[in-house]
Amino acid sequence: MLTFQKLAQPQSLTEAYEILTAQKNNFLLGGGAFLRLGSAKRGTAVDLSACELNYIEANEEEVRLGAMASLRDLETSLSMRQLGCGVAPQAVSHIIGVQFRHSVTVGGSVFGRFGFSDLLPAMLVLQASVHLYKGGIVPLAQFMEQPPQKDILTQVVIPRQACRASYQQMRTSCSDFPLLNVAVAETDGVWKIAVGARPGRAALAIQAAAALDAGVAPEEAARLAAAELSFSGNNRASEEYRRQLCEALTVRAVKEVLACK
Ligand SMILES: Cc1cc2nc3c(=O)[nH]c(=O)nc-3n(C[C@H](O)[C@H](O)[C@H](O)COP(=O)(O)OP(=O)(O)OC[C@H]3O[C@@H](n4cnc5c(N)ncnc54)[C@H](O)[C@@H]3O)c2cc1C
Repeated sequence: MLTFQKLAQPQSLTEAYEILTAQKNNFLLGGGAFLRLGSAKRGTAVDLSACELNYIEANEEEVRLGAMASLRDLETSLSMRQLGCGVAPQAVSHIIGVQFRHSVTVGGSVFGRFGFSDLLPAMLVLQASVHLYKGGIVPLAQFMEQPPQKDILTQVVIPRQACRASYQQMRTSCSDFPLLNVAVAETDGVWKIAVGARPGRAALAIQAAAALDAGVAPEEAARLAAAELSFSGNNRASEEYRRQLCEALTVRAVKEVLACK
């Protein structure tokens, strides 16, 4: 079980960042769901609950998800349900169960950049950006490739565009980790395809999306996505199975987007 020496509940992000960086083994707490499964011995746990990051706000241009908003908040948010055919609420609805999703946070889920994430492929095709206390505003696609750093994710911001999107995933059983997942979106004729649980971090299939922009059939785009991305095997699925899933789920997602009015 995770153990830590102290718990800090700062009232501001400035204070939170100071405590976080004061010692190498100090760390941030989101919902803490994953951390509890580990056996690490850490310094001070920094709880962001009093930093007013528990919000979902929307204006005409964007939707802002505070880092301490729960995945259930995201799932039930009207603004998120209306964005890209509700692709992000749809994606997180597969994670374990409602009570669990009430306790895990947007900040922990995005900053963790977990390879199996259901949320990240959806956020990538929605062209989200992350706001970091020290690192500033970074497009999520760029953040996904950055090495781990100590920072505070304050919010995730998604442009409010007229986009059509679809999320597809395969699990051995419901509430298990995904074997592979795919999100696809089309905004004003520009396509995005993101594939996650490869089992590596979600990544954009750039060439396959450009081919869709140029008008190729869904099957050809799916073949290109499976060819351009890397896959590997683990105890859940082989590399070859994941590649085939990528092709099948991408065709399904593109066709669903095309059928979406
Ligand atoms: C048993 C189990 C099964 C799961 N299955 C799935 C699944 O099928 N699909 C899926 O997508 N997800 C799954 N998850 C992951 C889950 O949805 C959450 O993404 C995960 O638990 C992290 O959320 P949290 O709020 O608990 O973060 P925490 O565990 O508190 O934090 C995760 C990491 O992010 C850091 N962190 C937290 N908040 C911030 C912040 N604001 N800024 C910077 N760093 C921060 C923490 O220090 C830590 O390193 C599963 C988790 C568990 C425990």
